[in-house]
Amino acid sequence: MRPAPFAFARPDGLADALSRLGADDDAMPIAGGQSLLVLLGLRLAGAETLVDVTRIPELCGAREADGAVVFGAATTHAMIEDGKVPDPSRGLMRRVAGRIAYRAVRNRGTIGGSLALSDPAADWCPVLIALGATYDIVSAGGARQVAAEDFADGAYSTVLEPGELIRSITVPVLQEGTRWGHAKHARKTGAFAESIAVVVKRPDGVRAALGATGSHAVLLPSVAEAVASGGDVAAAARADIAMADPDADAYRARCHLATILNAAREVCA
Ligand SMILES: Cc1cc2nc3c(=O)[nH]c(=O)nc-3n(C[C@H](O)[C@H](O)[C@H](O)COP(=O)(O)OP(=O)(O)OC[C@H]3O[C@@H](n4cnc5c(N)ncnc54)[C@H](O)[C@@H]3O)c2cc1C
Repeated sequence: MRPAPFAFARPDGLADALSRLGADDDAMPIAGGQSLLVLLGLRLAGAETLVDVTRIPELCGAREADGAVVFGAATTHAMIEDGKVPDPSRGLMRRVAGRIAYRAVRNRGTIGGSLALSDPAADWCPVLIALGATYDIVSAGGARQVAAEDFADGAYSTVLEPGELIRSITVPVLQEGTRWGHAKHARKTGAFAESIAVVVKRPDGVRAALGATGSHAVLLPSVAEAVASGGDVAAAARADIAMADPDADAYRARCHLATILNAAREVCA
């Protein structure tokens, strides 16, 4: 587990980081290093230069703005778990953060690093989709906003282009009267999930999402409709699972059904 030699840069400004990433095809951002260092060690990833993004002010911490909370991409899971940053989600994000891996991983792992890696079983992806988050992506050439549900396009695959960074994640504040449900099934505490379901019921609509599919986290439109209308959530879940995870075996499909029903039950309780 020894990586190939690489150079290391720790810029304290966004422009410097973006120009380093834009100028060199073999440069990669590194945040908490919880996944990237393993991939480098196994030589499943290679970089001539690692650009540490954790000292860039725009990527650090979180602030409230216009009915939303804007999380810098380098916000750690532990900061969210510990309530060190504002919570737009009425406790959902704190619960999710506290169930990621174990504390040593949460101390260093970041929300932006998790999204960029796009592990199919990552916890933040379905949660941020259900919360209606948007991601602010920057490069030396400019910035663009991507809705959470449009960001990943496969397992370990996203719309990020070379030279781009996730700068921040904007999560709308849940209004009074909003309820959420969240269920995660993993074989043991701290392990990656085998299914994650999230349902957010606002006064003006429902969003539901599924994670730990064979590919990437997705919206569950039939489940959202069934929860909103008081319809048959189990039937809706079966229909959505067939679309969201078509290659799921019987065990995985049962895990998805159980997490969706549990999340929906929590919303409706
Ligand atoms: C033992 C273990 C168990 C884990 N269990 C879970 C779990 O149960 N659930 C879960 O969700 N996660 C889990 N993780 C993943 C962990 O929570 C981190 O989220 C993950 O490692 C990535 O975050 P990081 O900050 O460490 O990113 P890094 O490892 O530094 O980087 C990961 C990738 O993201 C890129 N990157 C980093 N920051 C940015 C940015 N701002 N913009 C663009 N690209 C960027 C890097 O270039 C790299 O490709 C686990 C990790 C470990 C080691």
